[in-house]
Amino acid sequence: MISFLKASEIFQSIESISSRNEMTVILAEAVRVLDEKDIQVFSYLVQGRVAPMFIPAEYNLSEKGLINALSNVYGNEVSVLRKKEGDLGSAVEKLVDHKTKGLSLIGVYEALWTVVNSQGSGSVDIKAQIFLNTVKQMSPLEARYFTRIIVGSLRLGCSTRTLLDAFSMFLVGDKSKRDVMDKAYGSCADIGYIASLVKEDNPLKHLEEVVPIPGIPILSRLVERVKSFDEVKDRFPSTFMVQPKYDGLRCQIHKIGDSQKSLSERIWFGRQTAPSHIDMFGGVQVPKVKLFTRNLEDITDMFPEVVESAINMGGDSFILDSEVVGWNAKEKKFLSYQDTMTRRRKYGIEERQQNIPVNAFAFDVMYLDGKEILNRKTGERFENLEKLFEKGESSIQLSPVYITNEVEELRELFKEYIGMGLEGVIVKDVDGGYSPGARDFEWIKIKKSIDNNLVDTVDLVVLGYYLGSGKRSKFGIGAILGGVYNPDSETYESVTKIGTGITDEQWGTIKGRLDTIVVKEKPKNVAIEGIMKPDVFVSPEVVITVDADEVSVNRKSESVARGLSLRFPRLIEFDRDKNPEDATTIDELLLMKK
Ligand code: ATP
Repeated sequence: MISFLKASEIFQSIESISSRNEMTVILAEAVRVLDEKDIQVFSYLVQGRVAPMFIPAEYNLSEKGLINALSNVYGNEVSVLRKKEGDLGSAVEKLVDHKTKGLSLIGVYEALWTVVNSQGSGSVDIKAQIFLNTVKQMSPLEARYFTRIIVGSLRLGCSTRTLLDAFSMFLVGDKSKRDVMDKAYGSCADIGYIASLVKEDNPLKHLEEVVPIPGIPILSRLVERVKSFDEVKDRFPSTFMVQPKYDGLRCQIHKIGDSQKSLSERIWFGRQTAPSHIDMFGGVQVPKVKLFTRNLEDITDMFPEVVESAINMGGDSFILDSEVVGWNAKEKKFLSYQDTMTRRRKYGIEERQQNIPVNAFAFDVMYLDGKEILNRKTGERFENLEKLFEKGESSIQLSPVYITNEVEELRELFKEYIGMGLEGVIVKDVDGGYSPGARDFEWIKIKKSIDNNLVDTVDLVVLGYYLGSGKRSKFGIGAILGGVYNPDSETYESVTKIGTGITDEQWGTIKGRLDTIVVKEKPKNVAIEGIMKPDVFVSPEVVITVDADEVSVNRKSESVARGLSLRFPRLIEFDRDKNPEDATTIDELLLMKK
């Protein structure tokens, strides 16, 4: 079992380096020194979390609240140091100088869970007290990282991909087993669980045997885009499957069978691990249904009508892929994406449910009645899906499917769906499997914008903003800088400034959001072309959707995003429901260039 000081030293080495390869090497070395329990906890903490992404564990402690609590003990110096250091973690590091024995990694992890689990009246004070008591037992370096974890500013830039690379490097000395890691994590998206398997005897065998478990999200399969209808024929010379493209929220529906054990028991197979002792998954009680977004967020409580329908429909246990869309049953009309998204809230759900009822349109099934069926052909999976549906009222509806080999028929279907207020079509390879997290031409989207110069909108990561001038100076922001993702180097690279498509009211919201993630200098994983340097840098976290006239190339600046940029960009949506790594990649943008 390692100390939290050792973990903090690893965090510090990660923080001090700039290349992703070096980070992978440091993490692979960390895997070597961590035991099975430690590595699981470490995998969550290095990403600033106490649990996998799909467990909604929050500390609910504001930085302001912590500064107040710290000031009661350490005096006014706290605020002064916070300002000077630019981060509360570094400030607390300067405050503590105790010669302590320090805590174990698991001890700190338990303290973090006590903070998470303190709820109800008076809990803010209790949380602050736990924080102070823990800090008192820490050396300065430990206090730096503990504080950053609690206030949500750890930001070591350690993505899940880097961790998976590090696991491969630990096992075979290079990244060649990344495909095994991707398949395991894609089927069961709990990084701590995958990490613990890496430390088992015969790890590759265990990793290869990972299968989906209802209650734990599978990584959603993603779609590619094409530039024309004829390109579909080139991709699928024989038959292909056409489904409507619903414009709402991707939702994975998990139904957990009556006879299935609790999640902890199913995933940990009775092994004694830190989380099962902490009971991360919420007791032995088996929930009936769980809903997850493509970002692995648990949205079960937001859509009670979908949960109820899942309970009532056929199938003892299943995992379905669907899109949740607002639906006006009286007029038989889809609601707009914006209206659907108003259901994505934690409070006032009942009232919203009355005004904006939704349907989940199921288009795939990956697990059925105790068996995973990821590798069955798409056509066959759809036949299994059909069997779950009986006629009648339900908030889960079956998406229609057409199998054809005619581009003309595809065009007709496309027109029909657009006429119904849908976004276009998704074309799928009938014979493909469900590859978790993959984005390839087995699934293709054709959207309304197919005839425009830019066939699709792009999703960019905000890298900073410019102070407004003239009319906009009153907002303190006049344009934002957007970048694409480069998965090879795990960097975000600038492509365009966006200043249009934004109302006065939106500028306020945008600045408010971006000011919560301001960083003093350009983050290591960001590349910005010289002339685009923003006035204020932000941590690359917020994803925006942008439309433009076309993709252009500036050969002079090829070192950043291969010189790609957008002509006449305009903001369509700020703060998308996406992780930065899910933003448009350089290769995708290149493909969109006509
Ligand atoms: P990305 O391009 O990164 O996938 P996006 O969210 O902008 O991101 P869209 O352009 O909306 O993607 O197209 C893909 C999404 O379409 C899927 O993630 C899913 O949410 C939705 N979708 C709607 N209908 C279907 C369907 N029948 N099959 C698969 N996906 C569908």
